[in-house]
Amino acid sequence: MTKYRSFDDIKKSLENKETNCQAIVEYYLQNIQTKAHLNAFVEVYELSAKQQAERIDQKLHSGSAGKLAGMVVAIKDVLCYEGHGANASSKILSGFESQFSATAVQKLVDEDAIIIGRLNCDEFGMGSSNENSAHGKVLNAIDETRVPGGSSGGSAVAVQANLCTVSLGTDTGGSVRQPAAFTGLVGVKPTYSRVSRYGLIAYASSFDTIGIFSTNVKDNALVMEVIAGPDEFDSTVSRKPVPNYSELLHFGKPVKIAYLKETLDSEALQPEIKKHTMDILQKLKNEGHEVEQVSFPLLDYVLPTYYILTTAEASSNLSRFDGVKYGYRTPNAHNLESMYKLTRSEGFGEEVKRRIMLGTFVLSASYYDAYFTKAQKVRRLIKEFTEDLLDKYDYIIMPTTPSTAFKFGEHSNDPVAMYLEDLFTVQASVSGVPAISVPNGTDKDGLPIGLQIMANSFKEAELYAFADYITKHVN
Ligand code: GLN
Repeated sequence: MTKYRSFDDIKKSLENKETNCQAIVEYYLQNIQTKAHLNAFVEVYELSAKQQAERIDQKLHSGSAGKLAGMVVAIKDVLCYEGHGANASSKILSGFESQFSATAVQKLVDEDAIIIGRLNCDEFGMGSSNENSAHGKVLNAIDETRVPGGSSGGSAVAVQANLCTVSLGTDTGGSVRQPAAFTGLVGVKPTYSRVSRYGLIAYASSFDTIGIFSTNVKDNALVMEVIAGPDEFDSTVSRKPVPNYSELLHFGKPVKIAYLKETLDSEALQPEIKKHTMDILQKLKNEGHEVEQVSFPLLDYVLPTYYILTTAEASSNLSRFDGVKYGYRTPNAHNLESMYKLTRSEGFGEEVKRRIMLGTFVLSASYYDAYFTKAQKVRRLIKEFTEDLLDKYDYIIMPTTPSTAFKFGEHSNDPVAMYLEDLFTVQASVSGVPAISVPNGTDKDGLPIGLQIMANSFKEAELYAFADYITKHVN
């Protein structure tokens, strides 16, 4: 059967009447079954996907179908979809079923995308390897002894292994870009506030974004133009109009590009990734673009700032999981206090507990100013530096990750080594600007390398156009 690798492939087949949505859903269901051992899916929505497909086939017949008709999407297990489960891959939410849909998911459904299931991830989005999931680890399809990255590992592998056309993930500090780099995909984190967070189970509310995985830039741009935009259920969402990104992929003029000295000089950076990044910069220069090295003296502070602020926000957000309101409740309690304590001790995994404790510590009265207030100030410096730089330059380029996909267990006993995986992705998160990871060749073991491009806030159109140009003409 045809191997669909982009939405254009699907649309062509639909237009030529070679297939219909029901057959496309069957095709993906078959792939999901064959690749079940990768553990990308937590739950497959076979019945509702087939029903949707039938309904959309009728719409296609009558000419009233939406612009995503034929697209099959899977969503990270932190996004709510009415009448379906959502666990944030945590035991504490076991059995929870959502009564409403996240705005991003609803917008996809309104444009006739088919939702085929929910995807494994690190518990509450906390992790860089998808090893912290109550549903078990996800395998990287290119080498099953290696991690797919995290926290949206299932979302990455679902697209990588052709189990759906595109997927939604979330990116708080790199969770779309890093797994996209590890699996050879295009992954986008939009500007903070570009996409509604309504119906997204919160990790760190001032950082959380909903992002997209795809095999190519155009599909990503198309899904972004559908899910972005104002929402009466989330007052933090921007009211700025959303351009049709997928129709703005023409890129012609020479641009100004900055790369940060400290990222390429970083000791943690795998030499082959450095070489691939330098090669791209050289090619861009040869193409007539202005490419300059800039110093970013704050690089060492980005990761601590991110981890202080996100753990603080997480400790507050996760206080709602108490055994009373939803999900898991311990069967071992003998009074009210032990019900709260045991539910949380038994329901949360180790990494989540570590973060709740760290966050509670940095918010405690005696340490609040030394950690939380200080980190807020440093966040502002990083944000201002990044935005100023992006006023002078059109794009900042750097590697997405310091290494390619690592082996299972390699960082499991060293949380700091794991946190270092986010060294290059957290700058965009701390600053709120959009960033994309595109494939940039492979290392000597054949493992994908990611190239990260950042642009200023709300410049998604420019970011997509440049990324499309790089993937088609430069690398
Ligand atoms: N790895 C980072 C963390 O654990 C990023 C996670 C994310 O973006 N959700 O916080």
